[in-house]
Amino acid sequence: MAQQEPLTIPGEPRLSRRIREAANRDALGRAAILSGQGDLTAAARFTAAALLCRGGDKPCGVCPDCRKILREVHPDVITVTDPDHKNVSVDVLRGVTADASVLPNEGRRKVYIFPDCSLLDSKAQNVLLKVVEDGPAHAAFLFCAANSAVLLPTIRSRTAEWKLSPPPETAAEDGQARQLCELIYTGKAPELAAFCAELENSKITREELKKLLSDSRDLLTAALAAACTGQGDGPAVRLAGMGKYRLSSIVEKLGAFIRQCNYNIGVGHLLGALAVELS
Ligand SMILES: [Zn+2]
Repeated sequence: MAQQEPLTIPGEPRLSRRIREAANRDALGRAAILSGQGDLTAAARFTAAALLCRGGDKPCGVCPDCRKILREVHPDVITVTDPDHKNVSVDVLRGVTADASVLPNEGRRKVYIFPDCSLLDSKAQNVLLKVVEDGPAHAAFLFCAANSAVLLPTIRSRTAEWKLSPPPETAAEDGQARQLCELIYTGKAPELAAFCAELENSKITREELKKLLSDSRDLLTAALAAACTGQGDGPAVRLAGMGKYRLSSIVEKLGAFIRQCNYNIGVGHLLGALAVELS
């Protein structure tokens, strides 16, 4: 059976590892800012799961707490919004501070997620300051902000900041897809194996691998069209040299690997199979 991969924030393997390490040392603290570009609320849910998880390696993704948090139905993980007002009103935040003093329903902690801190003005943040500073130990606060400067220095100074990394350069990704296609084209098995080993060492996620394989398939599909019509441009023309038969076989194989990326199969296992089947 394929080894189950640890839960991660989509596209954030490094940050996921850092949060996991802190959680396993019980060092996540009572408040954190999740900042930068990316899915901040997914990062907050991951952190909430790390805070409440009862499994061994937190967040395990499979204990009842983790599962409820990921399905967004955990009664002790509260997303603070105020649909009736443009900004989150002071009344809503007073409700949060009152609720924070009540023990959790079933979790080890109670976690309040603020999905967009640009909606918290300074008056609102001042209402929260006291409970963030010295509220009950069971209460934790996760602030999502593209730019953490929207939070008051008094809150920032009491809070760990976890930064999401900017999305990878598209050019670099295209480069990798092109490189993979070239390696398939030249058909040198050891070089393809080395390329796959390098991807594994770089801790590529299943999602990133899926994107790489989809980009490669697009490139080879263009090459197949060029091989059939004698028309095309760029790398497709060169790759058309592989011939229609081989190209359609590789396009089909890549399709199978892309589908496998949707299942819980270890990335290492997939890369190993790729190196064998595509050379
Ligand atoms: Zn868990």
